[in-house]
Amino acid sequence: MLNIVLFGPPGAGKGTQSAKLIEQYGLIHLSTGDIFRANIKGGTELGTLAKQYIDNGQLVPDEVTIGMLSNEVKKNVDAKGFIFDGFPRTQAQAKALDNLLESMQTEITLMLALEVAEDELRKRLLLRGKDSGRADDQDPAVIQKRIDVYNAETMPVKDYYTTQRKYRGIDGIGEIETIFKALCEAIDGSGIGN
Ligand code: AMP
Repeated sequence: MLNIVLFGPPGAGKGTQSAKLIEQYGLIHLSTGDIFRANIKGGTELGTLAKQYIDNGQLVPDEVTIGMLSNEVKKNVDAKGFIFDGFPRTQAQAKALDNLLESMQTEITLMLALEVAEDELRKRLLLRGKDSGRADDQDPAVIQKRIDVYNAETMPVKDYYTTQRKYRGIDGIGEIETIFKALCEAIDGSGIGN
């Protein structure tokens, strides 16, 4: 299996690049943010719980997020592989993901990290908020909170994959196609998924 963690701060372009990567490599796209938003829309219990955190720019608790992600992976055991978008966001989530994949006799192939400076992120998120309808993209205080949470809680996940020699940084500023090409080169260089 080809299992990619697409990493990066909010607004780095993970959703855009995931859409292109799943088409190129035939993978299942699992975005925890998208799944939470679908639950909020559907009025589920999980959605009600997650909304309180999302609206404040905080992380949904690990236990809830890991449980939800595990269910989604188990629904797709026959997949060629996965793109994990927005997950893992804590070291506990990274460990849980390793355990889950190990139980399926597979593992994370690479963590591809889109690197974008903070000023650019703030600009992109406010712009996205104008037509995405996402409340968390429309409030500068919530945007800043999400960037702060990323730096404090999510950045350590980079160390987790660096230790495993799976981390690859990719410049996330520039043309969508140029960034996509760089991501594909990193994947093709891994020797898995061809
Ligand atoms: P995203 O669409 O990835 O920007 O996620 C939107 C929001 O969903 C985040 O600000 C968090 O509140 C929540 N969320 C998404 N993924 C996770 C995760 N892996 N762990 C905890 N919270 C998450």
